[in-house]
Amino acid sequence: RGGQAEREIPFAQPGSLTRVYAVASGKGGVGKSSVTVNLAAAMAADGLRVGVVDADVYGFSVPRMLGVTQKPTQVDDMILPPLAYDVKVISIGMFVPGNQPVVWRGPMLHRALQQFLGDVFWGDLDVLLLDLPPGTGDIAISVAQLIPNAEILVVTTPQRAAAEVAERAGAIALQTHQQVVGVIENMSWLEQPDGSRIELFGAGGGQAVSDSLTRAVGAPVPLLGQVPIDVALREGGDSGTPVVLSDPDSAAAVALRGVAKTL
Ligand code: ADP
Repeated sequence: RGGQAEREIPFAQPGSLTRVYAVASGKGGVGKSSVTVNLAAAMAADGLRVGVVDADVYGFSVPRMLGVTQKPTQVDDMILPPLAYDVKVISIGMFVPGNQPVVWRGPMLHRALQQFLGDVFWGDLDVLLLDLPPGTGDIAISVAQLIPNAEILVVTTPQRAAAEVAERAGAIALQTHQQVVGVIENMSWLEQPDGSRIELFGAGGGQAVSDSLTRAVGAPVPLLGQVPIDVALREGGDSGTPVVLSDPDSAAAVALRGVAKTL
């Protein structure tokens, strides 16, 4: 839309009924995208109108995890997002050829996010989930500028080192005056056939992030759920069917469906 005036972002308008959750993590590989797509699929299965923006420029994996191979189509000057499991999906990965890396500077990312939010025909949504890149980079600040009412969801593993960087990702919200809605701990344990648990990545990270953000914000930032390590979740991501749909009674799916209900 070169040269044209920017379109208003519907979700940022006063009176917007869409709840926007920006899913953040301190570092990559903690399961942020897996959590995002499963929350989206679970909410859509519950009858909510859901959209997902994959803004993880370095690790755009949402299309694969939702089995989306179609490209967005253009109607007039609006972009129509592909649909997967009743979730409207748009991803940076849909706009780069093949499996190319994205080497963009902050202003280009800002512009891309602005278009994803303003130029995509989302229709009326109950929930919009944004999969942010890991860390505390430019996109988090762009989200704060473009949708100040977006609420932050922090994903961490139980590991101390992961929790410390997750705290920093959550603390950005203090500077941008956004609300932190809660923390999700992922890869919390591996359940053995005899029911005992192996804590592969230690314990306590999610609670530590919740405690520290609660202190920093001065209001409760609850630990919303603990998602175990589960082969079914990984398989669901690889095959493009979120585990909350493919195996809803698996341990990870039960935890994720629980979180989806509390949001
Ligand atoms: P991030 O978005 O934080 O980089 P991903 O969601 O891409 O992380 O997850 C990284 C890898 O770990 C993926 O292969 C995913 O399938 C796997 N994974 C994530 N959470 C779990 C879990 N609870 N159990 C098993 N595998 C998981």
